[in-house]
Amino acid sequence: MNLLKLDITNMKHDYSEKLFREAQQIIPGGVNSPVRAFRGVGGTPFFTQRATGPRLWDVDGNEYIDYVGSWGPMILGHAHPKVIQAVLDAARNGTSFGTPNPLEIRLAKLVCEAYPSIQKVRFVNSGTEATMSAIRLARGFTKRDKIVKFDGCYHGHADSLLVKAGSGAATFDVPDSAGVPADFARNTLTLTLNDVAGLKRVNWSEIACAIIEPVPGNMGLIPLKLAFLQALRQVTRDVGALLILDEVMCGFRVAKGGAQELYGVTGDLTTLGKIIGGGLPVGAFGGRTDIMDLLAPNGPVYQAGTLSGNPLAMAAGIATLEELFQPGHYKTLEERSAALCYGLKKIVPGYHARVGSKFCVFFTDVPVVDYATAKTCDTKKYGRYFHAMMENGVYLAPSQFEVGFMSLAHTEADIEATLRAAREAVKTL
Ligand SMILES: *Cc1c(COP(=O)(O)O)cnc(C)c1O
Repeated sequence: MNLLKLDITNMKHDYSEKLFREAQQIIPGGVNSPVRAFRGVGGTPFFTQRATGPRLWDVDGNEYIDYVGSWGPMILGHAHPKVIQAVLDAARNGTSFGTPNPLEIRLAKLVCEAYPSIQKVRFVNSGTEATMSAIRLARGFTKRDKIVKFDGCYHGHADSLLVKAGSGAATFDVPDSAGVPADFARNTLTLTLNDVAGLKRVNWSEIACAIIEPVPGNMGLIPLKLAFLQALRQVTRDVGALLILDEVMCGFRVAKGGAQELYGVTGDLTTLGKIIGGGLPVGAFGGRTDIMDLLAPNGPVYQAGTLSGNPLAMAAGIATLEELFQPGHYKTLEERSAALCYGLKKIVPGYHARVGSKFCVFFTDVPVVDYATAKTCDTKKYGRYFHAMMENGVYLAPSQFEVGFMSLAHTEADIEATLRAAREAVKTL
């Protein structure tokens, strides 16, 4: 098999370019999610024809080893036979019922077993819905309005969470997007990651909840200091504010029980997405029974979804988690990710970070510990690296501020090929 077309120096992208021109006529920016447009690295995005295992093929026939994995869900690799079979089997029985279906209980049990802090869980259709609903629930439970988030953490695109990263001090911040009323943003206070002393800057007695990515991966990868996470847990518990651990990206990825297993810190509420749907649209939020039972129809906090608990999506999630939980799989992921990052560290100059199978290299000389230090990166240089890797058959995230994802389908040969590509790529920097 042709593992990697290292001899290609001038990939053709004619068909992708034609499609992108066409898409831009009828879809804003030509994409249905902004980062896909390659604005962070320049150039034209490729259109994918198909994907299996660790590989993508674009419509011009170019082949890539893929470390984006649909932005996280594809931890088994693309088109895993068990996932495909589960979706086909489910589809034959009908694609949506609008009634309860047995698959919802099976996926809920898998989630609750992996996450002891989740006593009850509700499924939604995206990570955005999960965080939005968890925050409404936290406000309903505490009868408080204000929430705390951390600079540079992304929690989906709900209004109250699209608030600009502040300059360090807690501020009543301005919206990060046009169309978000300033009144909404006023209830969102931002603090700095990894700054224990900074936690004192808000009046916690008026806070409904703090939401945080326990393995921040939306400004590149910035591991939290354990002492910081523990301090946040303590301060929220002391004042009766809820802690929402947003594990949409790190859930089921950094460990079977996510960051909560890795760090031994539990959330009152947890949000999940990405891997839990195995490539179909699923999100979830869950936590303590006394909180979750405030949701309609049991309680006064409204939340609903026409397609929530969709049988195809549940089937894909169940197949993905059951396969992922097979003995040895997390160890394999850890070993392959360690091997790749060890190799990359020797080849690519920059600040390297990894937690489990999430990794990234920041093109900067300073240690990256928060949003401010992440922003010291040379994004132009990252763009050159990204394109050189693509030319050498490796697809990385098209932005300095995203992370790479290893899958169980990546072999040692794929890692070798990736390191060969990196050796070529750094020559162009
Ligand atoms: C991706 C992501 C979201 C949003 O999920 P969508 O399915 O894109 O709406 C929320 N939180 C975190 C931590 C994420 O990585």
